[in-house]
Amino acid sequence: MNELAEEVRNCRRCGLCGDRQNPVLGEGSLSATVMFIGEAPGRKEDETGRPFVGAAGRILDRILEHISLGRGDVYIGNVVKCRPPNNRRPRSTEIEACAPHLETQLEIIEPSIIAPMGNSAISHLMKRFGLKTATIGKVHGKPFDVEAPWGRVVLFPVYHPAAAIYRRNLERVLEEDFESLKRILNRVYGSRT
Ligand code: URA
Repeated sequence: MNELAEEVRNCRRCGLCGDRQNPVLGEGSLSATVMFIGEAPGRKEDETGRPFVGAAGRILDRILEHISLGRGDVYIGNVVKCRPPNNRRPRSTEIEACAPHLETQLEIIEPSIIAPMGNSAISHLMKRFGLKTATIGKVHGKPFDVEAPWGRVVLFPVYHPAAAIYRRNLERVLEEDFESLKRILNRVYGSRT
């Protein structure tokens, strides 16, 4: 992962490298069973080089705590490693340019459950695993069995925590989806987080 971090620090595969202060590779346990994947770093993340350290991160921490998990039990990353200007959504060309970094990251961690958070991550990962993309309202909280180079994986789409900042009812939806995720984790993978 250190080698990948170095590669990402020097990456010029898309225009986002021009404005970044720090790329945000991700953080957490390198042997995590669950990997959460967000969209792209925001301002705070760009400043610190760490994922989900702003308002969305506080919601994510709360929901993880709701299922008795901490950041050290899981791995948290993003589809795009550098901040898009003014927090605009990353373009599909930027997501494609960054995809090899995410792929390397997945192959290092070999998660058994991948939880894409929000539309950008969900559509990228559903496509990556040969699934037909559907709207977040239809697929959130549903497990999809897919085949990865390292074995069988459950793809488990959820809402982006930032969505709960403006739509307060979504925090409860996120909690319920995370409860389902925890049940899959306990049932299929025993006590290992
Ligand atoms: N939103 C994201 O998608 N990723 C972060 O790291 C922070 C906010």
